[in-house]
Amino acid sequence: MSTTADIREAVTSCPEAAAGGATLVCGTRPELIKLAPLVRLFGDGCSVVYTGQHYDESLYSRIRVDLPPSNRFHELGVGGGRRGDQLGRTISAVDEVLAAHRARVVIVQGDTTSALAGALAANAHSLPLVHVEAGLRSHDRAMPEEHNRVLIDHLADLCCAPTGLNRENLLAENVPAERIVVTGNTVVEALHTALPPACEREAVLAARGLVRDGYALATLHRPENVDDPGPLALILKELGRLPVPVVFPLHPRTAKSVTRFGLGRLLEPLVVLEPQAYPAFLALAAEAAVLVSDSGGIQEEASVLKRPVIVVRRSTERPEIAGTFGVRVPAGPRIGEEAARWLEDVAGHRERLRYLPSPYGDGTAAARIAAAAGSVPVHRTGSAAAG
Ligand code: UDP
Repeated sequence: MSTTADIREAVTSCPEAAAGGATLVCGTRPELIKLAPLVRLFGDGCSVVYTGQHYDESLYSRIRVDLPPSNRFHELGVGGGRRGDQLGRTISAVDEVLAAHRARVVIVQGDTTSALAGALAANAHSLPLVHVEAGLRSHDRAMPEEHNRVLIDHLADLCCAPTGLNRENLLAENVPAERIVVTGNTVVEALHTALPPACEREAVLAARGLVRDGYALATLHRPENVDDPGPLALILKELGRLPVPVVFPLHPRTAKSVTRFGLGRLLEPLVVLEPQAYPAFLALAAEAAVLVSDSGGIQEEASVLKRPVIVVRRSTERPEIAGTFGVRVPAGPRIGEEAARWLEDVAGHRERLRYLPSPYGDGTAAARIAAAAGSVPVHRTGSAAAG
């Protein structure tokens, strides 16, 4: 296995990379977190285009500070508005950057509007496209993210699949095997870099009057859970009834819904926090008795932190943790039932989960992706000029 330094050397000493390097397009908190290991690896050999899809200070600024410094960081500020309008404006803005700054390869991560816009802009410039976190499928066509994933995977010249199952999903859709590489997920090394040591984690807990294994940590932000008062009220009631303190970093989307639906009193039993900086959030997650979340990234992180996670979703594109670290439940009483199961023997579950490997790899995903991206063939299918 090559070391990070070898790969960085190989990528940045390649003449084509030197001529332009990699351009990473992202626009949300999880993308910033999961692309940080690649930015760290590429150093000055890459530029980052931040579209501004997440523009709320609490989601952006607190995570941006942890991104390794890059000489070339373009902020587009094209967040907000209707999805179609945002997609159009983002393609156009990324297109401008790609026209002004030569790239050898464009890298997008995940399933957001920003990732799809980056993929389409790369395609319009006939630039090779690398999709990080390829091949995830929820098979839930009501989720815009599912359509984004499929579209990006089929546009990509290189699909970096975190797991073997993700590779199988791609093969089932006739993506050629030579376009797929199984890499693991960069969240593993992102987490290892950001997780504070035990003594600092203890201080984070002490500052909030919490003790290890004595509380639950919950996050919610998916439209299916927070855009209607019914499911949101059901989930908040369940969280409020848990027999331990529930720490609840409140996502801005959820905060707006709570206000709009008049559900503020359901927050009263919870320890409501602002969205946390990544290290502080990981400190809280590592020491929690149980996690309750509808987040994609937190499902993966649970398997690295060896914590149980109750996934409140009607579908998941991450079935790898089912039956080990994770259990999926609908909004409603199953949340409390599953939490009770984990809470009845926290120490025993901690011991059992400790030895289970994460399905998302060993922390070498970024190195594998960088190596594979360095050898993506440069294709020329046309010009960026309108035909
Ligand atoms: N996260 C964070 N602070 C918080 C809540 C979450 O840093 O207060 C991190 C979390 O550890 C994970 C990511 O944000 O890495 C998940 O982002 P989100 O839930 O917004 O998106 P998803 O993963 O569902 O795409």
